[in-house]
Amino acid sequence: MPFKIAVIGAGWYGCHIASSLASIGVEVVVFERNKRPLHEASGNNQFRLHLGFHYARHHGTRQQSRDGFLRFIERYPTLSRPIPENIYAVPKNDSLIDFMTYKLIMTSSGIDFVELPNGHPLLHNVGGAMQTPERVLLINTAREYFTRRLGSALVLDHEVQSIQNGDDDVEIDGVKFDYVIDCTWGHKTRVPMDTFYEPTILLYYDTKEKFPAITLVDGPLASIYPTESEGLYTLSSVPHTPLGIFTSSDGARECLKGVSADLVGQKRALMEEQISANVPGFRDAFEFMGIQLAIKTKLRGRSDDRSCYVFQDGRVFSVMSGKIDTIFFATERILSILEAEHSIDSIDVSHSLRHDIRS
Ligand SMILES: Cc1cc2nc3c(=O)[nH]c(=O)nc-3n(C[C@H](O)[C@H](O)[C@H](O)COP(=O)(O)OP(=O)(O)OC[C@H]3O[C@@H](n4cnc5c(N)ncnc54)[C@H](O)[C@@H]3O)c2cc1C
Repeated sequence: MPFKIAVIGAGWYGCHIASSLASIGVEVVVFERNKRPLHEASGNNQFRLHLGFHYARHHGTRQQSRDGFLRFIERYPTLSRPIPENIYAVPKNDSLIDFMTYKLIMTSSGIDFVELPNGHPLLHNVGGAMQTPERVLLINTAREYFTRRLGSALVLDHEVQSIQNGDDDVEIDGVKFDYVIDCTWGHKTRVPMDTFYEPTILLYYDTKEKFPAITLVDGPLASIYPTESEGLYTLSSVPHTPLGIFTSSDGARECLKGVSADLVGQKRALMEEQISANVPGFRDAFEFMGIQLAIKTKLRGRSDDRSCYVFQDGRVFSVMSGKIDTIFFATERILSILEAEHSIDSIDVSHSLRHDIRS
């Protein structure tokens, strides 16, 4: 495609979309306001390569995750690795659904797991547990990969100020492009959906033990997940990881600046208490290391929709990111819209199918 396209934001979405477009000959420029790619939400999350187990309440997200997982491993074979023991468990009292319902949803969605009929010795008060093949993302390798892959197309330390959406082109800070793709997760242009910004805190822990990944589902529950660094885990909690609900990106960023040692102490106490209810050995096995802060852009609603959406306004595309493995959906939607816009409109067919029929 003989286009010149600007991508704003070098998170997972911007980096993947730009790489995909570059590989089919599109001239791309990626603008990122930080000094390295994958610096904001993409570099401060639980690094879980989802397979759908998190989303019992949203079919579309499960489908995108299940398919995205397989495509991610094929396309980026060096950017994730398996986790020897990766357990999803359904607590008896606090889950929104019971284990049998959870199992049926995953089975009917074609998501593979192995049930642990005797539970797991580290788990307490759960209705059932399963071993899953979900993987962990290798964030430092990914950063290196995209830095090299994008080369001079990646313009770091450049915060895009203006987007002028014209009939024949679109200008980014005064430079003309054929299209622009906003991959800032709604921080530059808002996506036309009912969204809000959620600042978040993740807790980091070290352990000398070979601890499994443990995720408690479904609903306001907690999880412990390994990172790419040996012995380093994150602790996340649906009710305690969020730091508030904001209608503006600036408001959410201000909130992160105000995170105090007291607040970290309170969050730590709440999250440790929550995980210990089902994983009683947590405090003995883990030592607190520190925090990571980021902002999620979320859709309002209780269905837990984390699928990806793409919108177009003239020459500007905006991406409402889903999970990391839903990057493939975004690229395909953009390519499909571009193909439709630039395909042949009317075709004269003088030859009738009737001529091909033998009498
Ligand atoms: C606490 C937490 C845990 C999560 N856990 C997981 C998980 O385990 N697995 C998973 O799949 N997903 C997880 N997610 C979601 C995941 O982080 C997002 O799906 C993903 O990072 C979105 O990528 P992105 O590229 O759209 O956004 P981002 O990574 O936020 O990238 C947007 C980029 O745009 C840049 N930018 C913004 N404005 C401008 C501008 N004006 N000019 C130039 N650059 C600009 C930003 O600097 C940023 O680098 C988690 C998120 C959070 C916050």
